[in-house]
Amino acid sequence: MKVRDILKREGLVISYEFFPPKKPKDEANFWKTVEELSQWKPDFVSVTYGAGGSTHDKSIEIAAALRRKGYNVVAHITCISSTKKKIKETLETLKNYGIENVLALRGDIPQDPNFRFPENGFRYAYQLVRFIRENNGFCVGVAGYPEGHPEAPSLDKDVEYLKLKVDSGADFVVTQLFFKNEYFFNFLELANNKGINVPIIPGILPITNKGQVVRLTQLCGATIPRELMQIISKYEDSPEDLRKAGIEYTVRQCRELMDSGVRYLHFYTLNRYPATAEILKALGVQR
Ligand SMILES: Cc1cc2nc3c(=O)[nH]c(=O)nc-3n(C[C@H](O)[C@H](O)[C@H](O)COP(=O)(O)OP(=O)(O)OC[C@H]3O[C@@H](n4cnc5c(N)ncnc54)[C@H](O)[C@@H]3O)c2cc1C
Repeated sequence: MKVRDILKREGLVISYEFFPPKKPKDEANFWKTVEELSQWKPDFVSVTYGAGGSTHDKSIEIAAALRRKGYNVVAHITCISSTKKKIKETLETLKNYGIENVLALRGDIPQDPNFRFPENGFRYAYQLVRFIRENNGFCVGVAGYPEGHPEAPSLDKDVEYLKLKVDSGADFVVTQLFFKNEYFFNFLELANNKGINVPIIPGILPITNKGQVVRLTQLCGATIPRELMQIISKYEDSPEDLRKAGIEYTVRQCRELMDSGVRYLHFYTLNRYPATAEILKALGVQR
């Protein structure tokens, strides 16, 4: 089923992001996570894709396996290191596996100083969105950044570029993680003011430890708000207490979103089930 149709339904829409297991030994844990989280009947699941194409085959294999198990799948696809020909082949493969949704991304620019954008490819995600919409019948999602993309000159300009992705044919937006709902609400308002009228799904990271929060915020440029910083400092020497307080923080974040009328929650599971499961239980989500 296409995500744009799922998002039109009444009630709460739950989705999970997974990444393809890196090593054969991670595979059993991956499927255990999928299985454990299946009790909340996710409306869709998404599978990430290495920017340099490193996880290409594994991403497709996992997306196809999830589809065979009956999940509505969103396959991420990046364009930064791909030619149009390669992208077209990937889309054909996904289609043959019955996958109807893709998240069209540019991918991060590699650190390599010799990096050049592929000649017969794309520089920005909006071009990829246009290409997918012209060539295939996919429902297309794109990334949004409540605090602005790290390379963008300003949040306002970044939202203008988001509008370009939507005008190029994007059906929905999934956001980068954020730890303060104010950023998301402000982003919704900016998007609305710029005429973006597709659903915007908040990306939620269950907080479980300091290393994870610090590493991920450094990677994506999200702010750690004072309240969360205080929790991290308070329980720095007690990982179990930090985990408990971190999950409570995420539950409060989700509750506030839901109380404000947000109907979608997309969990960055990091391929682990306990934290997401505890949050869904605490929220009283019944499926
Ligand atoms: C929900 C989500 C899922 C993700 N999944 C993956 C994944 O599976 N694999 C992966 O490698 N990465 C993933 N990423 C990370 C993403 O690839 C990076 O954030 C990347 O740097 C930007 O991708 P984008 O699609 O947002 O790019 P774009 O929308 O192309 O934007 C990139 C930058 O260019 C600017 N820009 C856009 N259009 C223009 C224009 N016309 N002129 C000038 N500047 C412009 C934007 O402001 C931004 O700074 C994900 C991110 C999110 C939020």
